Amino acid sequence: MILINTCAIRDNAEQRVRKRLNELGFVKKSKPDALIGVMGCMAERLKSKLLEEERLVDIVVGPDAYRELPNLVATADTGQKAVNVLLSREETYADISPVRLDSNGVSAFVSITRGCDNMCTFCVVPFTRGRERSRDPQSILNEVNDLVAKGFREVTLLGQNVDSYLWYGGGPKRF
Ligand code: SF4
Repeated sequence: MILINTCAIRDNAEQRVRKRLNELGFVKKSKPDALIGVMGCMAERLKSKLLEEERLVDIVVGPDAYRELPNLVATADTGQKAVNVLLSREETYADISPVRLDSNGVSAFVSITRGCDNMCTFCVVPFTRGRERSRDPQSILNEVNDLVAKGFREVTLLGQNVDSYLWYGGGPKRF
């Protein structure tokens, strides 16, 4: 199985994904049972249209549906196409620790918000990452403490809109 994580913020990023999919045609030819999945913002933007445009793709999964991946893979394994591009108002993946494969052991990035409500006219983010939501502060502290224990010395907080982080009453911002 090959999963391609994608960005949709610029056309150039999407063109690179399409080029990579084109290159993966040989995989399907030599191993017809291989599954190819497109994850992330390009999957969210194009939804099932991606299956029509890129025939070798078996799985399309948006940025809020990664927990569904095992079920989507099981569906694709039966020969059906599998799509889940539902956006969530709650999902922050707070309880999932990222695997840092390309870490320098000193600096790390920690996500604290997802999505954006600003709807700037030129921007696709609210449509690909969904409504703004903040991550449970305790899970942020746990991740940072774990990084410190592993020797990291610099943490950069990440989010589409970090300065609108909001948490009150034991829960994220409500709409
Ligand atoms: S504030 Fe939100 S909508 Fe505006 S440019 Fe940034 S991510 Fe896009």
